[in-house]
Amino acid sequence: MSERLKEAAYYDVDQDAARCRLCPQACGIMPGRTGICGTRRFRDGRLELLNYGRYTSIAVDPIEKKPLYHFHPGKEILSIGGKGCNLKCAFCQNCEISQGDPVTHAIEPEELAGLSAKYSERSVGVAFTYNEPLIWFEFIRAAAPLIRADGGKVVLVTNGFINPAPLAELLPLVDAMNIDLKSFDDVFYKKYCGGRIDPVKETIAAAAAAGSHIEVTLLLIPEFNDSRDMLHDQARWISSVSRKIPLHISRYFPNHQFDIPATPPDTVEEACEIASEYLDYVYAGNLGRSAFADTKCPSCGRTVISRRGYHIDAAGLNDGNCANCGADAAVIVS
Ligand code: SF4
Repeated sequence: MSERLKEAAYYDVDQDAARCRLCPQACGIMPGRTGICGTRRFRDGRLELLNYGRYTSIAVDPIEKKPLYHFHPGKEILSIGGKGCNLKCAFCQNCEISQGDPVTHAIEPEELAGLSAKYSERSVGVAFTYNEPLIWFEFIRAAAPLIRADGGKVVLVTNGFINPAPLAELLPLVDAMNIDLKSFDDVFYKKYCGGRIDPVKETIAAAAAAGSHIEVTLLLIPEFNDSRDMLHDQARWISSVSRKIPLHISRYFPNHQFDIPATPPDTVEEACEIASEYLDYVYAGNLGRSAFADTKCPSCGRTVISRRGYHIDAAGLNDGNCANCGADAAVIVS
């Protein structure tokens, strides 16, 4: 007899269908079917998880690769991902695991916590990344306390598309998040991602209010989300949450259903200049050498962390502060 699959959190059953309440897609799921993310199936009157404890990739990565530049810089982190996504970005840079049907392997929360402890000399904890971790909610909720009990940090690299109640349950279990803000235009979110912008903004604001360390990523796609007005609006809004939130503006490369050419490096740098009018820490991503690679002290302007690829030199940093003037550099080191 096959093992009974774990039950999903956050759903109702109304007449013959389930209504999933984990994310704002609010999928109505008929018997035998799954929701948009493909990971929750309604069967025998319950919503069951097809992805609990199923991973596609695991590796120890530089934490800068997440990207997180202000959270344990220079360290590594055990990184794990499952499959599927609750958005459908036409330009997805990880479409093989988010939209495809990759091979998965089994892992229990205790095993993952054990691996985190095993690698603790070189890794600060576990990052749930590669695909969308929020649809792995139940597994992360089980694994995170075990990882933290052994001193590991828990990181999410996410699209932020989740409802407030499950987010409130998750936030106390998470140390840091990188949240995509893919555009500042709801039409873009609807047309190219199959989502909406407001829930993402609410996640960023809620995570900041809860005291989580957050960094934000914008994948810059020429002609689609790079208008100057929108870049001003987006950076201004992030600064209304906190001007200390690091913003990563990453270069897009053709992938999935988008075949327009890669973002010109100058376009990324111009977007960084605009965002720097509002935010203390703005970085160019996927670019190699850039004027927006290093962390500069917002008070005295000295370099506190210099970066070349994933290699860093934090000689200008002293316990999270600028070694030159002592100002807070918004870097978490312990
Ligand atoms: S988590 Fe999946 S099934 Fe649930 S509402 Fe979101 S996309 Fe639909």
